[in-house]
Amino acid sequence: MARRRQIFEGKAKVLFEGPEPGTLVQYFKDDATAFDNRKTGVITGKGVLNNRISEYLMTKLGDIGVPTHFVRRLNMREQLVREVEIIPVEVVVRNVVAGSLAKRFGMSEGTALPRSIVEYYYKSDELNDPMITEEHITAFGWATPQDLDEIMSMSLRVNDFLSGLFLGVGIRLVDFKLEFGRLWDNDQMRIVLADEISPDNCRLWDMQTDEKLDKDRFRRDMGGVGEAYQEVARRLGILPESGPRDLQGPAVMQ
Ligand code: UDP
Repeated sequence: MARRRQIFEGKAKVLFEGPEPGTLVQYFKDDATAFDNRKTGVITGKGVLNNRISEYLMTKLGDIGVPTHFVRRLNMREQLVREVEIIPVEVVVRNVVAGSLAKRFGMSEGTALPRSIVEYYYKSDELNDPMITEEHITAFGWATPQDLDEIMSMSLRVNDFLSGLFLGVGIRLVDFKLEFGRLWDNDQMRIVLADEISPDNCRLWDMQTDEKLDKDRFRRDMGGVGEAYQEVARRLGILPESGPRDLQGPAVMQ
């Protein structure tokens, strides 16, 4: 297929013009960044795994009625998505203390939270994604109070569903980040889940051992990053048990 026009290049993905108006092709790279781009690296096969994992999770969420931008996976590294106007707010949902929450409040990682916490961050690389409140979001016009109600209830629904789904395969969903976008059908606006859901933006711990199966392995130089992502895919049943280790090979995908 002829290479399409590139719309945007992010840290882990590239967006190309899609085959029809209102669509985009989302290409998953192996590049990884952390700490506001101060740490960069390549995790071989990550793009292939995240493409497949995100397809699987977005499809399951679509099945329970959560609207998403996902249309279909096109190949190993690309998926077709609806073009949305990204709301510049990152929504983080937490079930267990980890990462910046542990740091900010001097709490130990691994403490289960009595109730899920939802946090908002302004999506801005230049400003290093500052934490914001609903007041900032509505005052600066990024979303209305009604939009926020919808975003909050969708985020909690995603959390409940994904927590159960991962629990079923022996994984604790510690926290994750979501992004939402606006879609117009004529002049009717809908808010849908966008971006990706993968070990790049979730913390996933083995239920028994607390072993990290996510990007913290890269952030903290723990090694075995690709293997951890592969383990997540294997447990979700989207990587053949005896599949080849070579992530470039077509047999990885079902
Ligand atoms: N996260 C993300 N992108 C960001 C910041 C956070 O995907 O720009 C995810 C991260 O992978 C984790 C959750 O959001 O699953 C909470 O991250 P935290 O605030 O603890 O920040 P971190 O420790 O990753 O800096």
